[in-house]
Amino acid sequence: MAGEPQADCLFCKIAEGEVPATIVRETNTTVAFRDINPQAPTHVLVIPRVHYPDALSLAAAEPQVTADVLREAGEVAIQEKVDTTGYRIVFNTGPGAGQTVFHAHAHVLGGRDLQRLV
Ligand code: 5GP
Ligand code: ZN
Repeated sequence: MAGEPQADCLFCKIAEGEVPATIVRETNTTVAFRDINPQAPTHVLVIPRVHYPDALSLAAAEPQVTADVLREAGEVAIQEKVDTTGYRIVFNTGPGAGQTVFHAHAHVLGGRDLQRLV
C-alpha cells in the first residue's frame, strides 16, 4: 500500500531503527540524520517516516508530511547553526539527477561556501 514500509528500502530501515544512523532530530512524521558521505560540514538528510520514492510522489499523497520535511530541514539548519551563513535544501529526483535512494529525502547542506547551481 502507498506509504507503507518497503522491506528492501534503506531509509525505511533507518526510520524504523533497523539500520543505525546518527540521528539529529526526530518527529512523529520525520527523521533527520547525518549523511554517511558528507559533501559539506553540515550534511543532514531529512526523510518522512512514510515511504514514497521521491519528493513529488510524497507531495501528491501527503502534503502535510511534505511540509513537515521542509520545516524540519529548516530546523536542522538552525540547530546546526548554518541558518545565518546560508544553506541549501536539495531533492535529487531521478537517477539522471543523482538520486540513489528511492525513499524521498531532503539534503540539508551548509557550513561551506556553496557554489550557485542555477
Ligand atoms: P541521493 O543520492 O539519493 O539524493 O542521496 C542519498 C544519500 O544517502 C547519499 O548522499 C548517500 O551518501 C546517503 N547514504 C547512502 N547510504 C547511507 C547510509 O547507510 N547511511 C546514511 N546515513 N546515509 C547514506
Ligand atoms: Zn522507504
